[in-house]
Amino acid sequence: MTGPVDEPMDAPRRICIFCGSSPGRGDNYRDAAARLGQLLAERGIGLVYGGAGVGIMGVVADAALEAGGEVVGVIPRHLVSREVAHDALTDLHVVSDMHERKATMARLADGFIALPGGAGTLEELFEVWTWAQLGLHDKPLGLLDVAGFYEPLARMLDHMVEEGFLRPGYRDMVAFESDPATLIDRLTAQLTAR
Ligand code: AMP
Repeated sequence: MTGPVDEPMDAPRRICIFCGSSPGRGDNYRDAAARLGQLLAERGIGLVYGGAGVGIMGVVADAALEAGGEVVGVIPRHLVSREVAHDALTDLHVVSDMHERKATMARLADGFIALPGGAGTLEELFEVWTWAQLGLHDKPLGLLDVAGFYEPLARMLDHMVEEGFLRPGYRDMVAFESDPATLIDRLTAQLTAR
């Protein structure tokens, strides 16, 4: 990731989605992922993601592709078989390691959304968030809070603020929304306002 200065824009060209390689319990997560993928495509916003065909990752990619969207995957060589690299993407970058994956995804996208996921999802989100705190980029960040999945994290972040470990301004960098359309609108508004 390079310098902090980007051209002002009306809408994101591409949004990077971090999400689970597992499907999660029940239909809520799949449904939300599919809706988000579909909405991005309908708004002409490309999707950048980890390139897998499995779990929530595969659902969001399939939905965007089905709706005619651009979907770019970035997968490290050693995960091509484990995460079943998606074979019908607009573009698939096979990179050498996890660091290159994250750097490439961040470079290609104008903003970031985390869907529900596990440790990998949080790691990816926290890395781009800390990069923003350090001024390495000013791309907007959001969490799709499906069925209250991220409420415990929101409480943890509030606790960090209360205990003096996290500045309120940094806490506010991450938008929490339960509705995919509202979340895309918020990220778009932030990009326009930069
Ligand atoms: P998870 O949320 O744990 O299901 O992981 C979601 C995605 O994050 C998967 O594609 C993992 O390969 C990826 N992932 C896990 N750890 C890392 C990491 N350190 N850097 C980049 N991607 C990761």
